[in-house]
Amino acid sequence: MRHKVLSAAQIRSSFIDFFKSKGHEFVPSSPIVPINDQTLLFANAGMNQFKDIFLGLVSPEYSRAVNSQKCLRVSGKHNDLEEVGKDTYHHTFFEMLGNWSFDDYFKAEAIEWAWQLLTEVWGIEPGRLWATVFAGDKADGLPEDEEAAKLWTKVTPISPDRVLAFGRKDNFWEMGDTGPCGPCSEIHIDLGPDMCDKKDVPGHSCGVNAGCSRFIELWNLVFIQYNRTENGKLLSLGAKYVDTGAGLERIAAVLQNKKSNYDTDLFMPVIDRISGITGHKYTSRLGNKTDNAFRVIADHIRTLVFAITDGAIPSNEGRGYVIRRILRRASRYARVLGMHEPFIYKLVPIVVDTMSDAFGEIKERADFVSTVIESEEASFGRTLDRGIEIFADAAERAEHTADKTISGEDAFQLYDTYGFPLDLTQLMANERGLKVDTVKFEELMEEQRQRARAAQKSDSLMPTLADAELPVTEDMQKYRMDSCDALIVGWIDKEGLKNKGKITAGDEVAIILDKTCFYAEAGGQVGDCGIIKSDKGQFIVEGTTKIANCVLHQGRVAEGAFNVGDKVTATVSKDRNSIKKNHTATHLLQWALQDVLGKSVAQQGSFVGPDYLRFDFTYPKAPSPEELKEAEQKVREKIAEDLPVTWAVLPKEQAQKLGAMALFGEKYGSEVRVVGIGAESENGISEAISREFCGGTHVDRLGSIGGFKIIKEESISAGVRRITALTGHGLAKYLEQRSDIVDQLSQMLKVPAEAVSNRVEQLLAENKRLAKELKTAGTSSGPDIMSEAQTLLQKCEKIGGAHIIVGRISTTPIERAREAVDMLKKKAKSAAIVLGFADGDKVTLLSGVTDDLIKKGLKAGDIVKAIAPIVDGGGGGRPQMAQAGGKKPEKINDALNKAAEIIKEKLVSR
Ligand code: ATP
Ligand code: MG
Repeated sequence: MRHKVLSAAQIRSSFIDFFKSKGHEFVPSSPIVPINDQTLLFANAGMNQFKDIFLGLVSPEYSRAVNSQKCLRVSGKHNDLEEVGKDTYHHTFFEMLGNWSFDDYFKAEAIEWAWQLLTEVWGIEPGRLWATVFAGDKADGLPEDEEAAKLWTKVTPISPDRVLAFGRKDNFWEMGDTGPCGPCSEIHIDLGPDMCDKKDVPGHSCGVNAGCSRFIELWNLVFIQYNRTENGKLLSLGAKYVDTGAGLERIAAVLQNKKSNYDTDLFMPVIDRISGITGHKYTSRLGNKTDNAFRVIADHIRTLVFAITDGAIPSNEGRGYVIRRILRRASRYARVLGMHEPFIYKLVPIVVDTMSDAFGEIKERADFVSTVIESEEASFGRTLDRGIEIFADAAERAEHTADKTISGEDAFQLYDTYGFPLDLTQLMANERGLKVDTVKFEELMEEQRQRARAAQKSDSLMPTLADAELPVTEDMQKYRMDSCDALIVGWIDKEGLKNKGKITAGDEVAIILDKTCFYAEAGGQVGDCGIIKSDKGQFIVEGTTKIANCVLHQGRVAEGAFNVGDKVTATVSKDRNSIKKNHTATHLLQWALQDVLGKSVAQQGSFVGPDYLRFDFTYPKAPSPEELKEAEQKVREKIAEDLPVTWAVLPKEQAQKLGAMALFGEKYGSEVRVVGIGAESENGISEAISREFCGGTHVDRLGSIGGFKIIKEESISAGVRRITALTGHGLAKYLEQRSDIVDQLSQMLKVPAEAVSNRVEQLLAENKRLAKELKTAGTSSGPDIMSEAQTLLQKCEKIGGAHIIVGRISTTPIERAREAVDMLKKKAKSAAIVLGFADGDKVTLLSGVTDDLIKKGLKAGDIVKAIAPIVDGGGGGRPQMAQAGGKKPEKINDALNKAAEIIKEKLVSR
């Protein structure tokens, strides 16, 4: 029986349709950058987004689900980076097709349906398939999965000798060090003896999990029954779950009769494009340097497109550094294909063409992604070629060491000066059969970190405190009032936390109250300033911050004294009003920018203070002045409509469903505060024009913002723009200053304000005209060196076709004399030139020789070197152009005569 031949798109949809027909709900892939999971850098399996369901934290809305998940395996427990390109079936980015049961069906159905889809729907020959089950694990106290083993032969026609048991490494699936996990049952395919890549390894015998590429895993059926906790223990979950994952790329290779995933319709368009750009041919061979570069680049560009689309940006730490490493690896492979200019970004459109039907988001952000990649490529490109040379020297040295190891110092220099991530150096070392001293490298890294820390030492008075020591401050009043009564619980001074004693005038501390209406710095909004008063003293609050749930009022005692237990009144400064206006305006601005520029606008950060607001967002290019005006106008319209602003605290899932905008990478709790603009009450929040996850303070109605103006738009890094804008008080102040400037100009120019710009324009034009006149006047004065040189050319002696132009010219700036030599070289075509002139008692000798005569052994540098001593000087230069200075103007002619002699001698003797 022959199996079906299907495109990747058909495979994806037939998988989804098959499970839909079995009562599964289609759930879109979660973003590759997990929004709310700090335990994971990137999505690495389909189950990530269902983790909270497995842990019993949320209940699912459906009991069966199916999807195609975007996965990245470049870090942590699942890291396939080293395999990429070397084999045909491990990628950094891949799609995992999966079906789930949330305490509904279990092993029997999971096994039966997987078999049915593979053999009946897709028609893969059963004789090529093998199954594995969990053999148990003593250390974890887990028994063998006999149930699964029995089911295989019961619900499928597979022959019993093709059901094999393996241990924890192969058949116990875990997403990371902690989290839901369980025994699994895998389906492998036998690709035939030809595909074995270990034929030459003595003692190798092909088989499932035997380490060669003849048998590869297609589909993993995981039976989630446990949760691994931080101490490594396994806890039984209350319910039973099915979690399966099948690699789309591997199935595509099988169904398209290809020997490699790279030969399928998922990769070939990208490979063809690389070929088109670089001029190299892809020949699909493993172990071939060029082909390997093709595979790595085709793999990495997919990763980059998906990861950057979902919010990862190249940087020096965390997720960002993983992305940077991938891009730098790709850049280095681009060198293998002879590409020295940025080119990987040119592959973005082809990835978008191939993948955007299934994942529309990559189309929306394609321009942004290109911009980010190109700029990273360009900046790394500036040091890469030099780094490759440095590496070659280091490798050379390593060849001579006993253990063939590149030193930690060299690896560190490559990292620090040339931007080579350690794994890139390792990879290049590996290619030459060398190792890298990573221990020393890490030591040097740590030293550098310590230096950075020392240099950064904050001037804050805060000692380091454990979160647990600190009391909790009740601070919900910050949303409701500007003043409240409270008790002093303690304070922190240079020595640490104090919960008894006294502070007096001049003391600088951070006061802790039992409750407060002060807003502690968070989410871009600055912490409040204000005053804490009692009948015995006054404390000026200069800033407010929060450590864990403890609010710290930092400042100094201005008058009197305070004791722990004192009753006080805490009053926020009037600045709070300006801060609220700026914060609400920031939300409005994001809404307006998305409206005008589209969905590629996503917040990257913000600053909200009393004087101005700043909003950073992703966008591939500079918005036009018209677009900015339009966004500004939209904000103003909403302010004029005086819409209400409300907020609600909602479960995170509900807020996400409402489409509330969250900040990438920000950690939110299970309940979040959502601020809505344009809703009268909490219940109307779903109708709000803008909804954002936000813990900040806001105006009640837009009207009180009182005006809005963008004063600056700039780029802060590749693909990230920054807008600075003003509202209310800050705006009024700004407008007044501007108005003063116009008044001053109007007085200076003696015209009414409306005519100022016309007048300035006139003045500028006049200025330009005068400057031009001055310049031409300047050139007409002084000696005309060019015509003097011209005369020397006309009168010069010739030997063969070569002109011997030697002579004295008038005093002139050296640049002019050089221009004259250049002009003579061009005009004469073949010439040896020596010009000399004096300026006071300084002599300059200048020589130029055309390339044809250089070949005959005549060099400008030699000529000046020979004649400079005559004028009591020295000099030199290149064969083409050289220069000397001297101190005896009376000897210039002697020097020139000598020069002519030297030249003639050289030319005649040839
Ligand atoms: P392998 O042993 O081949 O690395 P795995 O055990 O790491 O696979 P799982 O974690 O069980 O794989 O993932 C489920 C499925 O996803 C696999 O059966 C395979 O089809 C696919 N898959 C896993 N890793 C990759 C990868 N790096 N590239 C492409 N597909 C992959
Ligand atoms: Mg793996």
